[in-house]
Amino acid sequence: MAERFDVVIVGAGFAGLYMLHRLRGLGLSARVFEQGDNVGGTWYWNRYPGARCDAESLAYSFSFSPELEQQWQWTERYATQPEILQYAEHVAERFDLYRDIRFQQRVVSATYDEADNSWLVTTAQGETAVAQFCIMATGCLSVPQLPDIKGIDNFQGARYQASMWPPEGVDFSGCTVGVIGTGSSGIQAIPVIAERAEHLYVFQRTPNFSVPAVNGALDDGWVEQFKVNYRQHRHYHKHGLSSGFGDLEIEPRERTPAAESAADMSAQEVAAILDPYWQRGGAFFLSAFADSLIEPRSNAKIADYVRGKIREIVQDPQTAEDLCPTDHPIGSKRICVDTGYYAAYNRSNVSLINVRRTPIEEVTATGIRLSDRNIDLDTLVLATGFDAMTGALLNMDIRGRGGVRLADKWHSGPRAYLGINMHGFPNLFTVTGPGSPSVLSNMLVSIEQHVDWMVGCIEHMRSHGRQRVEAELQAEDHWVAHVNEIANATLFPQGGSWYLGANVSGKPRVFMPYAAGVGAYRDICEDVVRDNYRGFVFS
Ligand code: NAP
Repeated sequence: MAERFDVVIVGAGFAGLYMLHRLRGLGLSARVFEQGDNVGGTWYWNRYPGARCDAESLAYSFSFSPELEQQWQWTERYATQPEILQYAEHVAERFDLYRDIRFQQRVVSATYDEADNSWLVTTAQGETAVAQFCIMATGCLSVPQLPDIKGIDNFQGARYQASMWPPEGVDFSGCTVGVIGTGSSGIQAIPVIAERAEHLYVFQRTPNFSVPAVNGALDDGWVEQFKVNYRQHRHYHKHGLSSGFGDLEIEPRERTPAAESAADMSAQEVAAILDPYWQRGGAFFLSAFADSLIEPRSNAKIADYVRGKIREIVQDPQTAEDLCPTDHPIGSKRICVDTGYYAAYNRSNVSLINVRRTPIEEVTATGIRLSDRNIDLDTLVLATGFDAMTGALLNMDIRGRGGVRLADKWHSGPRAYLGINMHGFPNLFTVTGPGSPSVLSNMLVSIEQHVDWMVGCIEHMRSHGRQRVEAELQAEDHWVAHVNEIANATLFPQGGSWYLGANVSGKPRVFMPYAAGVGAYRDICEDVVRDNYRGFVFS
């Protein structure tokens, strides 16, 4: 017989951990299932060389505990994967969360029983749990996407995947290494692998825009001063225009763009505005102009500036041209934040292979056969991305009222009210689900907001004697239309990105995250509550 809880949580990344902590505060019982053997989610799996966050550490951290934020010491402007993983483990220990988490349990199904008003959750390893509420805290980038390249399984050398990196690490010394994939993961890994490998071949299909991180050690005195005003900083992260990233200046303030538009500026005028952003580093670069993701002419000027930087950094003119993105507006695919990426191509042991010019015909036992030559490899690294946002949810067999499968409901793309709950799936919540700001924001800010909202909803139900909550179909339809309307007012849909599902063959092309920002989204969610949970039906 399945054990009974108030809530089952799927996933022990930051979302699952915070949810468990909040539910404990309400005195509810919870069981967490996690497929890894420790907490941390994305930071547990993505241990590839050079992995670090592209949001600044002092913002990419929990705000719910003032003591935690004061006591935890981040050491670098952008935290490394090991440091973030340590932080996740520290949070789990500090708040005594481990005892409710079952590790190495991959959830395969979640089925709603209408008569019992409960969810039965089952793992591949045979564990089960029944609960009134089911919380999907499964992450947005947790299902790796492997490339469909002929012969890939024939390779006899060592093969690694960025998002499932062996915990013991990989020594590339003396190896000829191939990397396929030049998204954020590849762009972080390439300069680090280049330092060790005998020779590194980068197989690039589409170049991406990347801006320098300008990472470095955090100064203790600076951090101390920053932390004096941490509450005020957090306020701006949560309510401001900056997608939750805030402005990491000592004095808390709202980040505002330096200029309205680059559209009618000369290249010199654009450079005068962008140079300080480039030198300062980070994805905040894109916020220099208010219309960077709205006005194509403004966007084109910003893209020109970055292509100019690539040509300045990369010495070989053909390599520089191959690295210059030309097929999408800057920022319409997630902008990358790097340390030494473009400069890595000036090393004599790094070669860029433009596979649009010389396509990969086949992976062989000993390397890669291009249309014009063979390249022998000892090691192949795949950094080919994820089935984002919907992948983890649709990998499970989720069945709601009347046995309706989520996979059927989402056949033409995800549909959810506020990205929080789906009509037909009572008492099931999706943390940072499709239709919420999620991957367009600082994930920690969005996770806390979603968890707080969901816990508030559960509290409301308990105090009003309600057993069931479910989005109205009409509210869901309106929200989906609104998410599309906002996306279509931007350049995002032109990116052909994983935001749209464009990296997975056969996946419906729907822009999945909500692009109006965390401040506007939070206001809407709070307004829904004030309006007696407008769009939700309780019973
Ligand atoms: P990604 O951005 O989807 O990049 C995948 C790469 O693999 C692309 O360059 C893609 O080329 C290439 N690729 C896929 N299939 C291929 C094939 N058959 N042949 C050749 N190339 C192929 O994935 P990602 O780099 O893992 O990043 C995903 C997201 O994770 C990021 O956008 C970011 O949100 C997050 N992330 C964040 C960080 C951070 O915080 N620092 C680090 C890593 C990842 P095409 O473009 O031509 O398809």
